[in-house]
Amino acid sequence: MSFRSINPLDGSTLAVVESFTTAQLNAALKQAADARSEWAATPMEQRCALLRAAAGVLRQRSDELAATISREMGKLIGEAEGEVEKCAWVCEYYADEAPGFLADEVIGSDASRSFVAYQPLGTVLAVMPWNFPFWQVFRFAAPALAAGNTGLLKHASNVPQCALAIEEVFSEAGFPPGVFRSLMIPAADVQQVIEDPRVHAVTLTGSEPAGRSVAAAAGRALKKSVLELGGSDPFVVLEDADLESAVKTAVTSRFLNCGQSCIAAKRFIVVDAVADDFVARFRAGVEALSPGDPLNPNTTLAPMARHDLRDDLHRQVLDSMGAGAVAVTGCAMEEGAGAFYQASILDRVEPGMRAYDEELFGPVAIVIRAADEDEAIAIANGSRFGLGGSVWTADSERGERVARRIESGAVFVNGLVKSDPRLPFGGVKASGYGRELSHHGIHEFVNAKTIWIK
Ligand code: NAP
Repeated sequence: MSFRSINPLDGSTLAVVESFTTAQLNAALKQAADARSEWAATPMEQRCALLRAAAGVLRQRSDELAATISREMGKLIGEAEGEVEKCAWVCEYYADEAPGFLADEVIGSDASRSFVAYQPLGTVLAVMPWNFPFWQVFRFAAPALAAGNTGLLKHASNVPQCALAIEEVFSEAGFPPGVFRSLMIPAADVQQVIEDPRVHAVTLTGSEPAGRSVAAAAGRALKKSVLELGGSDPFVVLEDADLESAVKTAVTSRFLNCGQSCIAAKRFIVVDAVADDFVARFRAGVEALSPGDPLNPNTTLAPMARHDLRDDLHRQVLDSMGAGAVAVTGCAMEEGAGAFYQASILDRVEPGMRAYDEELFGPVAIVIRAADEDEAIAIANGSRFGLGGSVWTADSERGERVARRIESGAVFVNGLVKSDPRLPFGGVKASGYGRELSHHGIHEFVNAKTIWIK
C-alpha cells in the first residue's frame, strides 16, 4: 500500500509515499519507547529550548513548507504561510509557558508537605486531519512534547508530504530520534497502535465516525483519549447587529480554507427582521470570491482538498435542494480538472434536510431564519454538534447573555471564531471532549500525581 499526494488543483500526482511494513511500524514504536524515559528526564528548559528551535526551523523554511501545504491540499498560499507562522507561535508559547503550567502545585493538607507533580504519560498517538495539516499537528505536539511525552503522528492519507516535512522540522530542530515520528500507516492500523503497550494515550482530530472508532479502541485498552471532532457552528445575527461587519466576517469565516474548517461558521441563523438584508449583502460578498490557483496570491477561493469530498458535498447540497432548500448563489461544481466547488449559499434550510442536520465541510453557507433571539438560540442548540459559535449584536451584554446560553466549546461575540494558543479549544456533544491549547491542553497528557510527605 502507498499514500498518494494529489494536487487538488489539477488532479496530478505530486508524490507517492510507501506505507510502513509491519517491521517498520514496530521499529518506530520501539524507537518511541526507547526515547521516552530519557526525554521525560530531560530538563524542562532543554525541552523548551528545542521547541524554540522548531519555531526557528518553521520560520526559516516557511516559504517551502507553505508551498508544500498549498500544493498537497489546495490551501491558498497566504493562508498556508499564516498556518506555518501560527505553528511557530504555538511552539514559542509553550516554550514560554510550559514551565509555569507544569510547576509543582503545593496544596495544604494533613501532610507536612503535599503537592501535585505533573508528569508525562508516555507516548501519545495523534491521528490528524488534512485541513490544517501543520497546525493540527503542532497544537498537539508543542504541549505534549514540552510536557515530556513522545509523539507519534498518523496523518491523513492525502497529506503524506506534510507528515514527512513535520517529522523533518523536529529532527532539524535537534529533537532526539524517536521523540516525534510520523507513522506512514492507514487508518485500519490505528486500532493496533492504540492497543500496543508502548502507546499510552491517543488524540484524534477528525470526523465523528473516526472519533467513535478511536474512542472505542482507547476505551477497550483503557487509555486516555482526546477527541476534536466536527462542528456545525452557529453564526447568530440579531436585529441590532452591525450587518456590514457581520457579513464581512461571515464571508471570511465560511470560506476560509475553502470552507474546510471545523470552526467555520456553518449555520447562519438570522432573525427575520434583518434576514433579507443579511442574505442580499452576504450574497454580494460571496459572489466576489474568485476561484483559481492557490499559489496565486490573487486567488480568494481555493479548490477543495479532494475530488471525492467535493462530490460528497454536492450530494448533500442536491439532496437539500430536493427537500426544499433554495440556492441563493453557487451550488454547483466548477468545470475542469480541479476539485473546485462554487462558493454557495442555501437559504430556507429546515430540519430534516441534510444541510441542516449534517456538517457541510466545504464552501456552502446555509441560512436558517429565526423569529427572535430565543428561537435563534434554540436553533443554535438544536444541533448534535457543539464546537464553536458566534453572536452578532450591538449590545455586548446581550451578546454575553446569548453566548452563555449556547451549548458549545467557544462562543465569540462580534468576532471570527478562531483558535489561539492562549485560549482553550475543544467541543461538547458530538464535537468531542477534552481541550487543546492554553494550560488546559498541556494538562490533558500529564499525570497529575499527588505526593504526600509526612
Ligand atoms: P477523517 O476522515 O475522520 O480523518 C481524520 C484522521 O482520522 C485521518 O488521519 C484518517 O486517516 C483517520 N481516520 C479515519 N477513519 C478512522 C478510523 N476509523 N480509525 C482511525 N483513524 C481514522 O476526517 P477528515 O475528513 O480528514 O477531516 C474532516 C473532519 O475533521 C471534519 O468533520 C472536521 O470538522 C473535523 N475537524 C475537527 C477539528 C477540531 O478541532 N474539532 C479540526 C479539524 C477538523 P485516513 O486519512 O487514512 O483515512
